[in-house]
Amino acid sequence: MFVTALTAGAVFWLSGCGAATATRKTLTDTAMGTVVSQTLYIQQGVGEGDAQEETVSVMELLTELEQQELSWRISGSEVAQINAQALAITREDADSTQLQKMPVSESLYESLVQIWQVSKDSGGALDVTLGRLSRLWNLDELAVLAGNGEMAAADEELGQIEGNGGVADRISIPMAEQIQVALEDCGFDRVQLSDGAISLPAGMQLDLGAVGKGIACDRVREYLRSQPQIVGAVVAVGGSVVTYGQKPDGSSWKVAIMHPREEGGYLGILSLNGEQCVSTSGDYERYVMVDGERYHHILDPSTGYPARSGLCSVTIVCDSGLLADALSTACFVLGPEQGLALARDYGAEALLVEEDGRQYMTEGMKKIYTAYRGNAK
Ligand code: AMP
Ligand code: MG
Repeated sequence: MFVTALTAGAVFWLSGCGAATATRKTLTDTAMGTVVSQTLYIQQGVGEGDAQEETVSVMELLTELEQQELSWRISGSEVAQINAQALAITREDADSTQLQKMPVSESLYESLVQIWQVSKDSGGALDVTLGRLSRLWNLDELAVLAGNGEMAAADEELGQIEGNGGVADRISIPMAEQIQVALEDCGFDRVQLSDGAISLPAGMQLDLGAVGKGIACDRVREYLRSQPQIVGAVVAVGGSVVTYGQKPDGSSWKVAIMHPREEGGYLGILSLNGEQCVSTSGDYERYVMVDGERYHHILDPSTGYPARSGLCSVTIVCDSGLLADALSTACFVLGPEQGLALARDYGAEALLVEEDGRQYMTEGMKKIYTAYRGNAK
């Protein structure tokens, strides 16, 4: 169980012992604002290097991905530069003919194209242009509160939370007018993506938080494939997990899904084949309770408020980390019926859990998921 002030992982794996022919290397560290846990099986005698060389390389590539491409906080990253440029455009200049094209790296462009497709297919339930809104909600602060039971009471007039001391004092529920103003700067359909470049309207800000860890899983898999001595691996980047290759004992990779309401408990176990990625989006990962209401980090772009779709946890399994992560967020916002339909459109397996504990899943999910409790529908 991860215990951290950073984002707690929504899923984690159960590792068995490896066979004698492969050495098992593990490392748990932090990168991309979350916990990264690795188990790698290294074939003895094939390209042996330093004891922890491979696990260190994985950490380095994650740090590089964050610093060079995805972070909105690190000024040198591509996303930060795109955001800075959108802030630099004056609103008077901001008609569509004057949007400045910002060339991006091939890898980021490829990710953006896929993300925009999910945005279209989900009717905007996934929208990474809501940076203004996510900053207004101060979702990073919610990360600190996650799961530690901190409570706060709202002062409706001021839109402030009266905290119980400590970090809760720094959280405020935005006022309705502030949300409306922030929403005016959001909208994936106002962005142009063409010829390897992106153009944002004035004031819009990207937030790739809903997809970054999934992209990270894809990059980790690319690295694992390039290392012939690595015969099997399971790597979790927060709530996104990639499985790779074979376990030396031939058994399937086991990934446990955290229970959305019982801290430290499992909802069930997934049995995966070494070519899959899993992503879970849950309202328990980052939230604060205000007057009995849960304010969490998955926002509904159509309202500007935390999504109230009836779901509290969505897990997606597919062969792409990016898609698993993008779909888990989108399906959470869409709710059980539309969420299941979207997952099916992508050929992904989905498990959606309602607040009352009811579970919905795709046919394929039923074959790989073993529930601990709750009734599959
Ligand atoms: P995840 O945990 O993958 O569901 O992603 C949640 C994170 O993505 C939040 O912390 C925000 O930074 C961002 N986010 C929240 N709601 C959305 C949304 N509807 N579309 C895109 N990004 C979102
Ligand atoms: Mg996601």
